[in-house]
Amino acid sequence: MAEDDVIRILGAGLSGLAAATILAKAGKKVEVHEIRGNSGARFDGDFQGLENWTSPKDFFDEMVDWGLDPKSFKSTDFRDMSLIHPDDVVTTPKSERIAFRIVERGTDEHCIDQGFKRMALEAGVTIHYKSNVKSEDCTIIAAGPKETSAVAFGEVFRTSFPNHVAFQLNDKLAPGAYSYLIVIDGVGLICTCLWRKQKRSNRYLNETIAWYENAYPELDREPIKRVGGKGDFSIPSTYYSNGKYYVGEAGGLQDFMWGFGMRYAVTSGVMAANSILNGTDYDATIRKNLLPLIKLSATNRMLLDRVGDRGFKRLANIWMRHQRKNGGDGLLFMERIYRPDLIRRFLWMFTNRILLKKTKFPDGRKGRRMPFRKALKRDSWEMSDRAKEIAEEWKGIRSSGGKVSFSESD
Ligand SMILES: Cc1cc2nc3c(=O)[nH]c(=O)nc-3n(C[C@H](O)[C@H](O)[C@H](O)COP(=O)(O)OP(=O)(O)OC[C@H]3O[C@@H](n4cnc5c(N)ncnc54)[C@H](O)[C@@H]3O)c2cc1C
Repeated sequence: MAEDDVIRILGAGLSGLAAATILAKAGKKVEVHEIRGNSGARFDGDFQGLENWTSPKDFFDEMVDWGLDPKSFKSTDFRDMSLIHPDDVVTTPKSERIAFRIVERGTDEHCIDQGFKRMALEAGVTIHYKSNVKSEDCTIIAAGPKETSAVAFGEVFRTSFPNHVAFQLNDKLAPGAYSYLIVIDGVGLICTCLWRKQKRSNRYLNETIAWYENAYPELDREPIKRVGGKGDFSIPSTYYSNGKYYVGEAGGLQDFMWGFGMRYAVTSGVMAANSILNGTDYDATIRKNLLPLIKLSATNRMLLDRVGDRGFKRLANIWMRHQRKNGGDGLLFMERIYRPDLIRRFLWMFTNRILLKKTKFPDGRKGRRMPFRKALKRDSWEMSDRAKEIAEEWKGIRSSGGKVSFSESD
């Protein structure tokens, strides 16, 4: 690549902006083309968790080593959370280390997307918003998910409840997955994730809100808006093809088990930039560093898909037992289940066959994708009276201007 060549990146999300910043800091001319009006517009006020267990190094220390500034956006450290078992028992996984950080996605100044945008602009990147360029004209493809493997819906509300994170394993409210409550500085989010495709999927969010309202009577929710989106989980045959680097979710780089894709997005963006700068093999770098974790998360997902609430209960109990036996450090369990071992390497053969289906990507690459699973018989249920009231309440808020930043095509 000639020194004065412009490097074009498709998508101004976390992966695209991370790559752009590293390249521009090294003196490259970089243009980012984003189809939406701003970075983070896809999420609009959603809280998300930056995990701290897939690498022995704290993610923020990694960012600093790469030349990215974790202080460029607001984040709130968590060392514990409430783990809600399927039978409503609540326990507390905890650690003396930072287990995860909550960040806000969106277009407000303090959001992570805006922090990454500022870093890119300060490094000299040109960002074109509302820009519709062809992927053929770009070197780095960072355009986020295309297909749907899973979805998440949430409601953002005002509350006087103190900062808190609760994570609920419950196969009825969150088919195959989990729901969560996050409260940061007077703003709350109740979200449910669906790892099985549902009709009338809003009932899951309404019923989940009803559940949290009952469990947290002091929540004094004042709904503001509803948010959500889809996840795209795939394993392509190559992450580099025809001179293009596929990063973040555009490359299928996602956590199949829980959907913690932000760290993979930033890391793969940095890896693509470094490959361009140093002439190293990007595909080989992803295969060596990220793919083993992703395969492992896929195997964990395959196992979770099979268990239902009885398995979720076992998982929660094993987690707590592991914490008791390991000096009260619950983060060790998360690190353990994301560490490749012989058994899960062996199980990969079955994961590949059972969980993933052959696919051809629009650019011609082949690979395997996790399809959105079909609903099960047990997913057919009617909303409780309180969930029906919450649905009506939301209709009223919506008609007086409450926004929904999610549609199946997002
Ligand atoms: C509801 C929800 C909750 C989540 N919660 C978490 C969480 O708690 N923790 C976590 O780690 N991860 C979470 N994730 C996943 C995480 O958000 C993604 O994995 C991550 O944002 C992927 O980053 P990316 O850069 O690949 O894509 P994005 O951040 O989505 O960026 C892609 C960008 O490309 C743009 N774009 C799309 N098409 C084009 C085009 N044709 N031309 C130009 N631009 C285009 C999009 O508008 C977008 O701005 C969640 C996802 C959802 C949907």
